[in-house]
Amino acid sequence: MRLVMLGLPGAGKGTQADLLAKELGIPRISTGDMFREALQSDTELGRQVKEYVERGELVPDSLTVALVEQRLSQPDARDGFILDGFPRTVPQAEALRDTLAAAGKPIDAAVFIDVDQEEAIRRIAGRRVCSQCGATYGAGAPEVEAGRCSQCGGPLVQRPDDTEETARRRLQVYMDQTHPVVEFYRAENRLVTVDGGRDVPEVLADILESLRPFGLDGRAGDAP
Ligand code: AMP
Repeated sequence: MRLVMLGLPGAGKGTQADLLAKELGIPRISTGDMFREALQSDTELGRQVKEYVERGELVPDSLTVALVEQRLSQPDARDGFILDGFPRTVPQAEALRDTLAAAGKPIDAAVFIDVDQEEAIRRIAGRRVCSQCGATYGAGAPEVEAGRCSQCGGPLVQRPDDTEETARRRLQVYMDQTHPVVEFYRAENRLVTVDGGRDVPEVLADILESLRPFGLDGRAGDAP
């Protein structure tokens, strides 16, 4: 399947995209992770996007679309993928539609995880990431209490753009520029909306169930 995850920062897109990727046997492609990796390794791309990411603003469409197109051309994305954090503007959604249409492989569904803004802020302010392997832990996870990653033992830190001030800016950017993308997929009859205010397994079960009409038949790795 070819899926897009939508929702406020903090809605749980990354968590659900990871679980779905394992369930369906397809890669999760996160533009946020790609930008953070570029920043950490101080590449040319990292230098180009640094200011935007640190301020909680969107990286220009041209750079982002080129990065995603390059990533989607990799062999592991041939039989499906889950895009997490892209598209974030209507021009990005249009570029993605055109690229995939040219290959005859359109997006099957866009999953919108619905949470309210205050809940999103609470989750963002409470989450921590491993400074070594990048694993993310939600507010209240035992790893956050211990300050250590249970996968690699690395120290947990707050993402620089997860401070409350930057998080509020990211939410504003989302409302202005990304929410219209939800309407874009609704108009294409590709939108699935789930209530993200529940426990992780419940949200996952709801997503899997909601994807059935879009071609998911429950078999891992299936790519209609
Ligand atoms: P995320 O981890 O998805 O919240 O992304 C972190 C940051 O990366 C965002 O606040 C933006 O600065 C940048 N970013 C990620 N994805 C995109 C995108 N599709 N378009 C523009 N900027 C993006």
